[in-house]
Amino acid sequence: MPEILEVETARVLLDARALDREIARVHAPDAWFLKRGLTPTRVRAALHGQSFTGARRRGKLLLLDVSSGAVLGLHLGMSGRVLVDDEAAGDPLLYASNRADPAWHRFGLTFADGGTMFLRDPRRLGAVELDPDEDRLGPDAFALTLPALREILGRSRAPVKAVMMDQSRIAGLGNLLCDEALWRASIDPARAADTLDGVEVRRLHGAIRDTLRILGRRGGSHTGDLTAQRGPGLPCPRDGAPLLRRTIGGRTTYSCSRHQR
Ligand SMILES: [Zn+2]
Repeated sequence: MPEILEVETARVLLDARALDREIARVHAPDAWFLKRGLTPTRVRAALHGQSFTGARRRGKLLLLDVSSGAVLGLHLGMSGRVLVDDEAAGDPLLYASNRADPAWHRFGLTFADGGTMFLRDPRRLGAVELDPDEDRLGPDAFALTLPALREILGRSRAPVKAVMMDQSRIAGLGNLLCDEALWRASIDPARAADTLDGVEVRRLHGAIRDTLRILGRRGGSHTGDLTAQRGPGLPCPRDGAPLLRRTIGGRTTYSCSRHQR
């Protein structure tokens, strides 16, 4: 499933290949894929004859600035992938089942130069919207400062993992990245967020940064050390202790029974 690292890879592809090309045709074959009141007619009117001037990201939301001043928001959902001129962003292993079936092209554009951009999504859980409310999202995980994290955690008695996954508080962290960062920080994901002391918050902040950097370099959010051990009866890769499998914040959570406290 695309997490912030996969969305960033898509953003880099859009930034390199989709900007400053005149949009000649808009393909919106799936009205259900258009969200927050957007219709095929409206999205065509908003994009036809325009071009993209910037490719941004906030958390898992992709943002394409349009020459008219509008902003096109793309959500990759559970299985979405961006293609520009048939080149796809992301690790082919992660998307092994994502073959090139045009029926999965939920939204797309043809540029005046003949090239294309498509959002391919077999599971149809992504979305396209116009002028999304970016401020409904918290600060982007890549830009999260230590004081901001301290304030976010200090305001909540919910489990620390649930707070980290709440996109309105921190944008971009999904299930695997949260488990990996908490494992690296030696913090129990079930701890009430406001019980973390200053040293623990600092450790978690460093672990989020390291997790994004290291897994980004390895090739995606599925490449974590703990992620490799998600399965029945597998031990902690650090100390060999049994891993706990619990549901926290509504998601299956793995943590170490010994070193995460
Ligand atoms: Zn351990």
